Amino acid sequence: MKFIVVTGGVLSGLGKGITSSSIGCVLKARGLKVTAMKIDPYLNFDAGTLNPFEHCEVFVLDDGSEADLDLGNYERFLDVSLTSDHVMTTGKVYGSVIEKEREGNFLGKTVQIIPHITNEIKSMMSNVGMKSGADIVIIELGGTVGDIESAPFLEAMRQMHSEMGHENFVFVHTTLVPSLGTLKEQKTKPTQHSVKELRAIGIQPDVIVARSERPLDDSARRKIALFCDVPLDAVISAPDANSIYQVPIFVEEQGLTNYLLKRMALEVPDDGLANWTKFLKKVMNPKKDVKILLVGKYMDQYDSYMSHYEALTHAGAELNARVQYLRMEAEDISKEESKDLLGEADGILIPGGFGSRGTDGKIEAIRYARENGVPFLGVCLGFQLAVVEFARNALDFHDANSTEFEPHTSHPVVDLLPEQKDVTKKGATMRLGAQEILVEKGSKAHKLYGSTTISERHRHRFEVNPHYIDMIRDKGLKFTGKSPDGKKMEIAELDGHPFFVGSQFHPEFKSRPQKPAPLHYGLVKAALEFSKKGK
Ligand code: GLN
Repeated sequence: MKFIVVTGGVLSGLGKGITSSSIGCVLKARGLKVTAMKIDPYLNFDAGTLNPFEHCEVFVLDDGSEADLDLGNYERFLDVSLTSDHVMTTGKVYGSVIEKEREGNFLGKTVQIIPHITNEIKSMMSNVGMKSGADIVIIELGGTVGDIESAPFLEAMRQMHSEMGHENFVFVHTTLVPSLGTLKEQKTKPTQHSVKELRAIGIQPDVIVARSERPLDDSARRKIALFCDVPLDAVISAPDANSIYQVPIFVEEQGLTNYLLKRMALEVPDDGLANWTKFLKKVMNPKKDVKILLVGKYMDQYDSYMSHYEALTHAGAELNARVQYLRMEAEDISKEESKDLLGEADGILIPGGFGSRGTDGKIEAIRYARENGVPFLGVCLGFQLAVVEFARNALDFHDANSTEFEPHTSHPVVDLLPEQKDVTKKGATMRLGAQEILVEKGSKAHKLYGSTTISERHRHRFEVNPHYIDMIRDKGLKFTGKSPDGKKMEIAELDGHPFFVGSQFHPEFKSRPQKPAPLHYGLVKAALEFSKKGK
């Protein structure tokens, strides 16, 4: 078992997740078994209680863990399904050590950051390697070197490097190389400083991945190699990419795969990233364009709905189409430009969400899609609001609502799941993770999934109120997917509409390159037909 640790310097948001995933991707293409782990040095136990504005999308794993969005990148780039073991936070590490202390595991001893916290970190890292049986574990350390909160993690890694031996532990440091002045000269000083910071902790990076607007100049590359004491072929240029899926190709072309293999004393055959290149060609050479409008709450941040954007990209690639994302803040629905966006859209997607802000706008957009035959996909809250909209406008229950937003509505068409009634704690208490769904034969969902039994990931507290199911169905909104006991409504499809589908689960989390989420595929396909016909 070998570890590759990816750290970040200068500032956050350098795309460490994509770098880590891309390194994993190229090594996997050489036939190695690769897995990945994210360390987030914050005190929260997991990402479940963080809002998308604060910390981007919450990514849900099969086992119900609520994780950082980088877990989504690992799953998509490595085509693996991960578990809660692959997420470490300061909250988790300290929680576990304090629990052990209370059990008396350290009787008589003073419990300290070194060695108790660092030992816990090391054992969580080794555990991932052992359980997954991976040849290589990529560890991404969130935050920036020099942050107070990342210090115990870096110390644990320094120790692991000397315990496991140089061949088995590699440090990759990602930094920023800004370009300044009229000549746009690339400046390497911030990189030199952040490497100095790492060295002060006792870590010498093996590889520097330099993020920059344009490819790294030869002189900047040489300076980094000289001052940071890394070989020239271990300075990797990571310019802004048109698609994140190009990054493994950049990594491979600059020889990083071979460098890493040599550094880890591994000999494996070269496959030239054949499969990945096939997928990338489809992403980069679309034959047509299609516009999908997302209506949500945090629209100026790509990261807040990352898995949806990626699922749409995967779907588009399979359909030889480039998906252009149109974005609308749900609260802006009555603005003139929002009307234009609705008119421009070939398909509309309403993602999941919490809280009442923006729900009226989302309901309006759903109504527009339903009445105008615009392909529509509603996910989780988007599905629940499609039911609310239908109850209000097709069943004439004018005050129909979810009790999440109006506890005293006379038509609670969406209501708390019975098992949620006594839950008061907020962390990891929703209906979470992969659950089986039975899909009705002959339905659109059945055709898209090609199966009547599927498994998809969930994250919700509310559901379609069983009391209203027959009334809603009789008016044409059919529930074509249900939990195996038949009690929970999982998929809705509208009769007589080209594509009006909602799912209580989140299909976006399982979408992968070359295996797009079926419902996103269905939406993009219907949107292409809709745009061809002319609106
Ligand atoms: N707020 C809704 C619920 O808890 C929907 C959740 C979601 O969209 N993830 O059921």
